Amino acid sequence: MHRHITIPPDHPRAGSLQTRELLVDGFRRGLVAAEGLIAHGRGEAYDYLIGEKTTQQAQRAIKAAAALLLLSRRPVISVNGNVAALCPKEMVELAKATRAAIEVNLFYRTGQRELAIKEELQRHGAKHVLGIGMKASARIPELQSERRRVDPEGIFVADTVFVPLEDGDRTEALARMGKKIITVDLNPLSRTAKAAHITIVDNIVRTMPYFVKSALSLRESKSLKKIYQGFDNSRNLHESLRIIKEGV
Ligand code: ATP
Repeated sequence: MHRHITIPPDHPRAGSLQTRELLVDGFRRGLVAAEGLIAHGRGEAYDYLIGEKTTQQAQRAIKAAAALLLLSRRPVISVNGNVAALCPKEMVELAKATRAAIEVNLFYRTGQRELAIKEELQRHGAKHVLGIGMKASARIPELQSERRRVDPEGIFVADTVFVPLEDGDRTEALARMGKKIITVDLNPLSRTAKAAHITIVDNIVRTMPYFVKSALSLRESKSLKKIYQGFDNSRNLHESLRIIKEGV
């Protein structure tokens, strides 16, 4: 049976509790894996430390990421269960704004979850969703079993992949395949954060509306290359760590 919790809007952790409810609801609807709930807990801890706000560093990374997606020939946006539960609408909007393909990409792959995520994306306006069923038949070299399956028309041939909330092994393997990687990860120390070319250290719930806006406003820009090339990921990660340590 579904439990409905009313979160008082003046509760000091209202935003964070609402996000939890979205995930728990996504878990009940078969979008989120149990492990996804645990991964979110790790994210929350870092969010607390970073002050639960989109820092200037994150804003800079978002702009560089929007520029890179717009510069790419075959950009792909990868969606897992947590992402589908937290921000399906914005993922579809970003794909449209940057002419990127959308692919369902799961660590814990089951046919049912794949389909549930695909349907959730379609409900939010996605026309074509890659990575479903037998179509996810290409292999990321070096990885084992289900974790390495990707769509031969999607991530496998992409030049740039946006893989928010991803695990380190797969991010590193995709980077070694020569792809440019953009991620959202609240933990600036994770392997994913370090392996990506652009790491947005922010809660994906705050990132996505800003990301869509940036992509739409940069569409006609002549400075995309400059914005992307002016971004230094390891410096940006260091600055995010400093904020965590020093609070500013
Ligand atoms: P890695 O393998 O990259 O070293 P990990 O083992 O912690 O890291 P996972 O648990 O697979 O990686 O991925 C979850 C990552 O996503 C964590 O680093 C966590 O901080 C981050 N994360 C979880 N929820 C969110 C969220 N809502 N917004 C942004 N980041 C999040």
